[in-house]
Parts: sequence; C-alpha cells; structure tokens
Amino acid sequence: MSVAVIIPAAGSGSRFGGDIPKQFRLLGGKPILQHVVERFLAHERVGRIVVAVAEMVVDEARQTERVRYVAGGATRQQSVSNALAAVSDEDLVAVHDAVRPFFTYGTFGALLDAAGVHGAAFPGVPVTDTIHLVRDERIVQTPERQLLFAAQTPQCFRTAVLRDVLTRAMDDDATDEAGLAARFGYDVRLVPGDAMNFKITRPEDLAMAERMLEQWS
Ligand code: C5P
Repeated sequence: MSVAVIIPAAGSGSRFGGDIPKQFRLLGGKPILQHVVERFLAHERVGRIVVAVAEMVVDEARQTERVRYVAGGATRQQSVSNALAAVSDEDLVAVHDAVRPFFTYGTFGALLDAAGVHGAAFPGVPVTDTIHLVRDERIVQTPERQLLFAAQTPQCFRTAVLRDVLTRAMDDDATDEAGLAARFGYDVRLVPGDAMNFKITRPEDLAMAERMLEQWS
C-alpha cells in the first residue's frame, strides 16, 4: 500500500519563545523540519510528503515531485486538512509533528501495518506520572494511570478514514487526529511508542536533541 506523509509545520511555536518557530530551529546545523522530511524521504514505502507551512514560507520553498509545501491554516487541524487536499491516491497517510525528528522506522512500519488492517493507529507511551484533571486549582478527577497513554506521531490512517474524520470534525481544533478518529467511531489501535520520539517543545528539549543526534548518527 502506498503511503503519503503530512507534516503540519505552520505553527508559530510560541511555547519555545524567540522569533523563529521551533520547527525551523537548527539541530546539528540543519532545520528540525528538514531532518524529519529527509527521514521520511529515505523510507521505501513513502511516496509523497506534504508539509503545511506559513504562507510566506510556501513562496520560498522548493517544490519537488515528492515534497510539496502548502499553506497551513489557523489551527493545526486546518493545516492537516489543507495538506490532505494535496494527497492524491495514496492508500495510507501518516500525520507527523514537524518537531519529532527521532521516530524509528520500526515503529512507523508497525503503525502502517496496523492502519492498513484496522483503519487507524497511533504510537502511545504509558504515562509514568499520575495525571489529575484540575479545574480552578482543584482536582476534579484522577483517571486510572494504567489506562493513560501519551500520544505521539506518526499517526497513521487509511486515507479515506482521515478524509472522513476531518470533514466531520469541521472547525474543531483537535491536537491529535487519532482522538478525532476514535470519536467518530473508528477502531484506532495503539502501537508501542518510544521515549526517544519526543517533541522538541522547549529550549531544553533542543539541547537534549543535540546530544541525541550525536549518538543517533
Ligand atoms: O503547538 P503544537 O506543538 O501542538 O503544534 C503541533 C504541530 O502543529 C507543530 O508542528 C505546528 O507547527 C503545527 N501547527 C500547524 N498549524 C497551526 C498550528 C500548529 O501546522 N496553525
């Protein structure tokens, strides 16, 4: 089954601070986003990669047959929808955060297989901290920790499933497509994720990524 990859990279990265969105920060001398694009490009099952970026970045980007840049939207979900419109006849589609350069091919392959069979799959890691739901500085609920998994990417779907989910979700602003698919009744399977596949969110994450890159290559 052919595979397309969608990378939402149109965010401003406000939690990271500074002028440059975190996906364009340099890691080992190269933008984080470029690490991610190259890693998918080198994968034998991946056909097209569609990257959603800010409109002014689209004008400067070098479009190729395999790597397309499209304008993102106001929310992550809109950026994913815009990118999905540029996916053609690939059977499966993976949605991956621009700031997770350390995904493994092993997990990606397992996710694609699970999505091919069940329709949708995401990499999840068990939560080690206890998580409380807090409102107005008070605990309102403490979910059973054994049931909690932190969702990573790449999240993989049959293309028809993701199209249906995003059409039905309309103007929602979901942080995660797997949760949306589950909400609309799809069978979304958990595949064990990997602690190394963390999201570069804060400056200290970038320092850790630099150290990891040295060991990785
Ligand atoms: O802010 P957060 O880390 O959840 O963003 C996840 C991903 O979604 C990032 O790669 C970001 O660039 C992307 N995004 C986007 N369009 C937006 C907002 C976020 O593509 N409007």
